Amino acid sequence: MRGEGTVRDLTCTGPLILVNAAHPLRVPADPELVELEGGVQLERRAAAALRACLRTVGGTAGILPVSGWRSRPEQQAIWDDTLAKEGLAFTQSYVAMPDCSEHQTGLAIDLGRRQENVDFIRPYFPDEGVCRAFRLAGQQGLLCSGDNCGGVVAASWRSTGR
Ligand SMILES: [Zn+2]
Repeated sequence: MRGEGTVRDLTCTGPLILVNAAHPLRVPADPELVELEGGVQLERRAAAALRACLRTVGGTAGILPVSGWRSRPEQQAIWDDTLAKEGLAFTQSYVAMPDCSEHQTGLAIDLGRRQENVDFIRPYFPDEGVCRAFRLAGQQGLLCSGDNCGGVVAASWRSTGR
């Protein structure tokens, strides 16, 4: 039987990292980052898996990487900006507190349908067309995020979408 300490230790080792409000980052991540597009960065292996999936579903032209790796100050700024513009309830629903976002690991990515005026906090990722194809590909190696945003992460790295 594993003790809680052991499980906690395992939540922050290797490429399988659990980060959320109940499991904040205890040590800053130091991922090897590569740029996907437009300054959006992702951990090297996650980026390769994402690119492969996008190619497989023909989604390179139709799906936009909206937000990938974030530093702690960037996550703080997103929290502060959203709080000022949208209020606490919205912010708590769609934005993770600093150190509670998987984006700080470099293993989380928010994707949206490529279009004018992409919503940074809630990118549009409809259940049709190439976005649907991408979601279906998730059953074969990519896991789509939960309810809160269009986030998708590669391979076994799962995002809660914040
Ligand atoms: Zn996200």
